[in-house]
Amino acid sequence: MRINGTTEPTVHGSAAADVESDDEFREIVRAFLTRNHPGPPPHARDEKLEWQKSWLATLFDGGFAGPNWPREHGGMGLSFPRQLVYQEEYARAKVPGPLGNGVGIAAPTIMKYGTDEQRRRFLAPMLRGDRVWCQGFSEPEAGSDLPSLRTTARRVGDEYVVTGQKVWTSHADHSDVIYALVRTGDAASRQRGITYLVVDLETPGVTVRPLADLAGGTTFSEVFFEDVRVPVANRLGEENGGWRIARTSLGNERAASALKSSAMYRRVLDELLALARERGATDDPLVRDRLTDLEIRVRILQYGAERTSASIIHTGEPGPSASGARMQLAKFEQDIHEVAVDLLGADGLITKGSPEAVQRGRWLTGFLRTRASTIGTGTTEIQRNTLAEQVLGLPRDPSMPS
Ligand SMILES: Cc1cc2nc3c(=O)[nH]c(=O)nc-3n(C[C@H](O)[C@H](O)[C@H](O)COP(=O)(O)OP(=O)(O)OC[C@H]3O[C@@H](n4cnc5c(N)ncnc54)[C@H](O)[C@@H]3O)c2cc1C
Repeated sequence: MRINGTTEPTVHGSAAADVESDDEFREIVRAFLTRNHPGPPPHARDEKLEWQKSWLATLFDGGFAGPNWPREHGGMGLSFPRQLVYQEEYARAKVPGPLGNGVGIAAPTIMKYGTDEQRRRFLAPMLRGDRVWCQGFSEPEAGSDLPSLRTTARRVGDEYVVTGQKVWTSHADHSDVIYALVRTGDAASRQRGITYLVVDLETPGVTVRPLADLAGGTTFSEVFFEDVRVPVANRLGEENGGWRIARTSLGNERAASALKSSAMYRRVLDELLALARERGATDDPLVRDRLTDLEIRVRILQYGAERTSASIIHTGEPGPSASGARMQLAKFEQDIHEVAVDLLGADGLITKGSPEAVQRGRWLTGFLRTRASTIGTGTTEIQRNTLAEQVLGLPRDPSMPS
């Protein structure tokens, strides 16, 4: 295979995964990412989406997508140590990651519970970025208490008729597919009456309404379903069996995402250190103290990710301590942006889009964006409940299902 019109041959990802030494593997990944780098992102939203999709297709076609995905679904099937190398190089290259919430969350669920036909139909187009997936779990009256969700699906022949509303659905405004939890049992059935459905967002009766967020974007949306017809062939697992599927411990994915985040924040912290030096802020002992604290914590993130990976290798499960890692990450990403904004002083408040904005306003945007880190993917209070009950053995929260 030859890339970008050059005559230099490049190694396909599947061959790269098989090389013997980690150093050689690192070089091959780095060469691929450098040679195919898509350049800086365009400003316009639609163009940026196309830029990102085109990058994901290049990655997939070159065999360098899905480091933790099995090869049969288009991934690289890497061991955990190799995934760590891959994530370090990926973070270093500053190339865009997957679109939507499919690759990280829906895909491992489909791999585990989907039929062969569903795996063939859904997985590769998702990894290649041809079809973007979003997650429709939360509703206006059902967030932490998800078993109280009320979007209903009534079976009529070979279809379900879906009616209701989801909210805070990240990426819905540029997604093609939503994987949703819907009620197929009676109103009082709670987690016993929930089904996992995959719904094409182009289906008549679906309305996506973007919501403005604190950082000035529209990261999430409301999604309305009005008599939406969904083929039974799009149901994952059994009817009324959706809760178990949604709650399954997706160990490999958690480890993959922990490795990815720790590698990314290693780079982000190095960039913050460079910025602090450039602005002469490291002369201030209080700034040095805060930077040192971040340095210690970014290393803990990496050790935590490695511990989760080791736990999966030995026991097949990430263990409940993954909730602790998630909490540490959420707090770390808030704090690193807070330090950056403090360090920049008044300059840190110049918003993106302004020519005076420092590094395109990334630190302020990050500061605003990460206010939500302790809410999304389960609030910190809920993670604390998990730690209290499953790690410390304290009494259970009676309001939550087991
Ligand atoms: C940036 C972002 C992206 C999101 N993306 C998605 C998405 O793509 N798809 C999706 O389905 N959802 C998404 N969500 C929704 C998210 O999962 C919910 O916001 C979250 O589960 C909390 O639910 P809630 O907002 O209804 O708050 P509530 O559940 O009403 O909680 C309100 C407060 O009460 C506390 N609380 C509630 N129950 C308990 C308890 N038992 N013990 C102790 N404290 C408790 C909570 O910690 C919180 O502080 C997203 C949220 C954010 C912020």
